[in-house]
Amino acid sequence: MKLNTNENPYQPSPKALEVLGGFDGDRLRRYPPPMADATRQAAAKVCGVPVDHVLCGNGSDDLLSIITRCFVSEGDRIAVPWPTYILYETLTQIQNGRFVTVPWGTNWALPGELLNSNARLIFLARPNSPSGTTSPVERIGDLAEKFGGIIVVDEAYVDFAESDCLSLVAEHENVIVLRTLSKGYSLAGLRMGWAVAQPQVIEGLAKVKDSYNCDAISNAVAAVALADQTYHKECVGKIVAERKRMAETLAGLGCDVTPSEANFLWITPIRVPVSEVFVMLRERKILVRTFPQPDLATGMRVTIGTPEQNDAMIAAMKEIMA
Ligand code: PMP
Repeated sequence: MKLNTNENPYQPSPKALEVLGGFDGDRLRRYPPPMADATRQAAAKVCGVPVDHVLCGNGSDDLLSIITRCFVSEGDRIAVPWPTYILYETLTQIQNGRFVTVPWGTNWALPGELLNSNARLIFLARPNSPSGTTSPVERIGDLAEKFGGIIVVDEAYVDFAESDCLSLVAEHENVIVLRTLSKGYSLAGLRMGWAVAQPQVIEGLAKVKDSYNCDAISNAVAAVALADQTYHKECVGKIVAERKRMAETLAGLGCDVTPSEANFLWITPIRVPVSEVFVMLRERKILVRTFPQPDLATGMRVTIGTPEQNDAMIAAMKEIMA
């Protein structure tokens, strides 16, 4: 049972799967629309922004790469509240940039020192991984107001959260919000994400992307998945309800559980070392995610699964923590 990569346990939208099954192979002879128009329009509608505020990418990782290539040259700084999504460091290294980590405050509070980082770019995962925590939108707006560079709010997990940062895009030219279909829409294997920013920023990013960064199949299927909001909200609702049950149950079993707005929980087992918990879970065919970094050494990240998968996880933890 894979509870280690934050995939959605439910099937993608049946309407999207229908489009996939009926896809006319002849359309593959031609190059796809360079801006993935169908998905671009559907994403703009979901976000309540004009189409020129949206750029589609081959997953949000593609957009993170485009943004880094666009704004960061050799020696430039990229700042992040730390710990966070590890790809930000890899992208910085590829550009020969300098990766500046600013530790989160108590209870994963947004560190004000980010402002003094002298960075070209701040990557802020909201909800953050692996903590699942969020920072208040107003504080991020305040940071955007005072910061001289670009702030990328990576909303990969926002479908499971109570608020988002889209309103900041209208107010701040230096804010880029990233979304993906990988988590909330169960389409991690399809590869489709999008950026929301002011049109002049989107135009600049579009110049840097590969000409055909989104393929024809992804464009057609993602557009329908996005339009099927009823199914999407149903799946998200089930996961959010299970997240609450898992958090309460695991806390009752002797784990410190960080309040999460994502589709995973950051859990610190209190009496048993996490390395032992990991091995005992693996013996029971349950995979969770641990991290090599010293500041993450005491915890593990557990993806919320179906009620049955979560029951199996709880049963295993009952034995391990007894
Ligand atoms: N941002 C964060 C914070 C993530 O955890 C992930 C998934 N690993 C991504 C972005 C990348 O998502 P995608 O599948 O859209 O490339």
